[in-house]
Amino acid sequence: MTSVNIAKTSADNIDINNLPINSEEYKINDWLIKYKKSHILHSQCSTTEKCADSTYPPCPFCMFTNSLQLPHLPEMVFPNNVLSLTHSSGVQIEFNALDALKLVSNGELALKVSYADAWKESRDPSNLMEKIKPFDWTFSTNYSGSFSGPLHIESTEERIDIERLKEREKILFYQELMLFEDELHDNGIASCTVKIRVMPSSFFILLRYFLRVDGVMVRINDTRYFHDFSTQYILKEYTNRESPVQRLHVPLQMFGDPNLIGPHLPISMGSYEKLSWINSVTKDTGPALTT
Ligand SMILES: [Zn+2]
Repeated sequence: MTSVNIAKTSADNIDINNLPINSEEYKINDWLIKYKKSHILHSQCSTTEKCADSTYPPCPFCMFTNSLQLPHLPEMVFPNNVLSLTHSSGVQIEFNALDALKLVSNGELALKVSYADAWKESRDPSNLMEKIKPFDWTFSTNYSGSFSGPLHIESTEERIDIERLKEREKILFYQELMLFEDELHDNGIASCTVKIRVMPSSFFILLRYFLRVDGVMVRINDTRYFHDFSTQYILKEYTNRESPVQRLHVPLQMFGDPNLIGPHLPISMGSYEKLSWINSVTKDTGPALTT
């Protein structure tokens, strides 16, 4: 909490919108892989006069608050952290904080009642807006990436070969981006991150939403993408895993690390899809999907 406050205070003293964006491109086979990363979102509007005038584009803070309609945003939002993959067919897959936060439930608590009660008792909403307008304080999202272009999506029995990912293969490109994080008023953590690694034969992406409400529950929503460059498709796997804390008989320190606690959480929901691009599938497979 302390470090977050310090970061916000110092950021508010400078025009963070003008800070440089760190970015890199990596081309492999038919793919252009790009990432951008930059500063945290301002905690308030930085250009109120301009933002009140609709002829100007809004500042990032106003853009987020206007399009999300949430009573408040996570403590740390990274509006410029974007990972994108563009295929020569025109297919694009992107990961960004705004789309992830658009899927946060607004107007009702998504937590199951037992969780919600314990959760309500564990926190004291100081902001009047929070008392009036209930929303999912945990910023839970089942965001699994943003797509555009001639993509064909179907469910599949094929699974990502985890053993193959454990093989030692040279890593040509690696990046990890934080999309948002919130410490739930010191009651735990909610975070959304995406990481990619590219090997000579394939790429692998893990988009992860991790939630720990201290003493109450743990939730991990993972989306994995795997593409073998010798094939014409990507395997995409989404899983929701969660458990009340009282059912987890594991050492306390494991709760801090999603990689450690993850295997102890039962899978509540899983979806397994094959993504292929239209120029690689037969023409009568129907219109392109954009989700
Ligand atoms: Zn503004």
